[in-house]
Amino acid sequence: MYIPPSHPRRESLLIRERLVEGFKRGYVVPEGLIAHGRGECFDYLIGEETREFARKAVRAAAAALLLAKHPVISVNGNTAALVAEHVVRLAEEVPAKIEVNLFYRTREREELIASVLREAGAREVLGVGDDASATIPELFSERRRVSPRGILVADVILVPLEDGDRTEALRRMGKTVIAVDLNPLSRTARAASITIVDNIVRAMPALVEEVRELKKRPKNELQAILGSYDNNQVLAEALDFIKTRLAEIARSMRGASH
Ligand code: ATP
Ligand code: MG
Repeated sequence: MYIPPSHPRRESLLIRERLVEGFKRGYVVPEGLIAHGRGECFDYLIGEETREFARKAVRAAAAALLLAKHPVISVNGNTAALVAEHVVRLAEEVPAKIEVNLFYRTREREELIASVLREAGAREVLGVGDDASATIPELFSERRRVSPRGILVADVILVPLEDGDRTEALRRMGKTVIAVDLNPLSRTARAASITIVDNIVRAMPALVEEVRELKKRPKNELQAILGSYDNNQVLAEALDFIKTRLAEIARSMRGASH
């Protein structure tokens, strides 16, 4: 599809095209397209920019990943379609393991996502086929299957675009869960230890940068960043930001009608 360079929604349309491409190749599910639409709505509300509340969360997330003993990046179809290269870069910088973990798991989708990640430079991809042999307690169906070398033993997990149920289950297992979710009201956003309220296409590059920066700092500084982080506070800041921004826009609309 041709999108003229001057189109005001060009960036957003190009992102959609990447998901549609993943859908045509068979690794993005139709539900993933719907989920993206919900995310876009919240992106409009924050003005499609990385805001201060997201920067704080990115900083804490980078510290948590660097302090972790077994950090894992969980990848689903949408994540693979949108930020495969950044997942690989992040995994190298931390270093962390990469695991395919799907809500709608089929062998074919696992393999396709693993190949997208390998095309992006990943050397090892967990959670494919027989490797997903362990189970997360309390979750039903295929999405409880995880790798015994990955999510099962992870202490810190980055789950971009995760579902609320699984986030809660991972927290009950005592894991630190980092979520990327544009909706500050979702169960995922509330259940995660650290929620980056931002579009994954901006959050992942920001996270890679932050990890590169914080890697140079001493451990106690990272512990201090993590120790002073308050996720409920950050979610409240996101809601306050949206509220204030919408009030300003409403005011300027009234101004324009006089
Ligand atoms: P929950 O299960 O956490 O209560 P939900 O059921 O409303 O949430 P899901 O369908 O499980 O949502 O997941 C979609 C979520 O992912 C949406 O809340 C949306 O905000 C978020 N999302 C979708 N696309 C993006 C994106 N590109 N960047 C960041 N977040 C996104
Ligand atoms: Mg859900």
